[in-house]
Amino acid sequence: MTLLVSFSRAEQRLMELGISEPEEIDLEAIAWDEGVRVQYKDISGCEARLVGVGNRAIVTIRSSTEDRRKRFSLAHELGHWNHHRGRSFECRADDMVERYSSKSTEEREADSYAADLLMPAYMFRPLARTIKRPTFDSVKELADRFQTSLTATAIRLVDANAWPLLLVCHAAGGRVWFKRSRDVPDRWFPQKELDSDSLAFDRLFGAKERTRAQKIGAEAWFDKKGAEHFDIVEDAIRISNGQVLSLLWIENDEMLAEHSRY
Ligand SMILES: [Zn+2]
Repeated sequence: MTLLVSFSRAEQRLMELGISEPEEIDLEAIAWDEGVRVQYKDISGCEARLVGVGNRAIVTIRSSTEDRRKRFSLAHELGHWNHHRGRSFECRADDMVERYSSKSTEEREADSYAADLLMPAYMFRPLARTIKRPTFDSVKELADRFQTSLTATAIRLVDANAWPLLLVCHAAGGRVWFKRSRDVPDRWFPQKELDSDSLAFDRLFGAKERTRAQKIGAEAWFDKKGAEHFDIVEDAIRISNGQVLSLLWIENDEMLAEHSRY
């Protein structure tokens, strides 16, 4: 059997360099190899900047930023360098999904290059399959390994489709965005408002300490006839901006079936 696998530009770059472990993804070395000098300065007005002339460029990253964010910014600027050579950029690189739709094509290309460079699928997917349960504890382990943010890593885990998952972000005003693994059918669409039985509700409005991921009736998350027949596994954490991120694991095969009476 021939297996057709396509690799993104960032992944091809990593493979050319013989990089096979997350710890080997040395962005500054990769930048150097591409004629990009990296400097950290106290800049204002943006998180990162790329100034390119011919085959050389200088990337400046705001020095006061947290380490993983700096890493994302550098990967993002390398995305501009690979996709939009000859131009200069000033970026507020972030992984805020709600702003995604308002981003320009160039910014999206740089973000997607960054995600592939930091968490290449050929490394991420096999590791994602080895975790015991898809909860935020596992997401944190992966994030520590790849030196990436919890949100970006959770998104990658959902996109990798190694587990049937939904990732939902809520603020006090309701759902902000959500993502679904390819194996989760479209009929499982998360409700706009958080159910008071959900762990996410406690995280958003309560002062409860972090508890473990828990089983919960699917009707707390899905306003759909038949949901009451199933349980799902929910984990939730508080992230920045007063938002809560929920990871929903659809364990039940009948929920995942393409054609079901539910
Ligand atoms: Zn940018």
